[in-house]
Amino acid sequence: RLRRGPVRQSDSGPPDDTAVTLQPTSLSGHDVLIGYGRVGSLIGQALAKRGMKILVIETSDDGVEKARQDGAEVIVGNAADSEILTAANVASARRLFVTIPEPFEAGQAVQQARSANPKLDILARAHSNAAVDHLNKLGANLVVLGESEIADRMLERAQGKNGGS
Ligand code: AMP
Repeated sequence: RLRRGPVRQSDSGPPDDTAVTLQPTSLSGHDVLIGYGRVGSLIGQALAKRGMKILVIETSDDGVEKARQDGAEVIVGNAADSEILTAANVASARRLFVTIPEPFEAGQAVQQARSANPKLDILARAHSNAAVDHLNKLGANLVVLGESEIADRMLERAQGKNGGS
């Protein structure tokens, strides 16, 4: 089940756990991070150190808690959902970091964000050449293939850059 912000308590009767409201952000010119796991949390912490305004979209309790501890505003929910992206104000955001590994959901988020904001700088994570092509076609400005970055760093070392031989 999606959880979209605080549970709204009705005026009469017991709290209704199914009635949820999605609290839109008041941020603009901000960085939106989709996912706050191994990749997203590193980006979020680095941006926070530089004083950037950050909004995180996350589904998991662990990711949500970590993002809040790091001082980010958080929207709980699936970033492939257009209502979640609207609440994150991607239309007025500066950058979008799509750090989730699943290419179909990442593509849905990229496509909707690009349509809402033609100027948005969209940086996305991928794990296959097909995913790189898919995300580029849908409007990402930079798609980083994780496996390729790992190989490049190892080769740099093996070829003598950064202290190797
Ligand atoms: P990692 O692979 O460790 O960088 O973690 C990816 C993070 O993205 C996890 O914390 C997931 O809960 C989160 N995540 C995966 N899919 C979505 C999605 N569609 N919307 C929001 N967060 C997601």
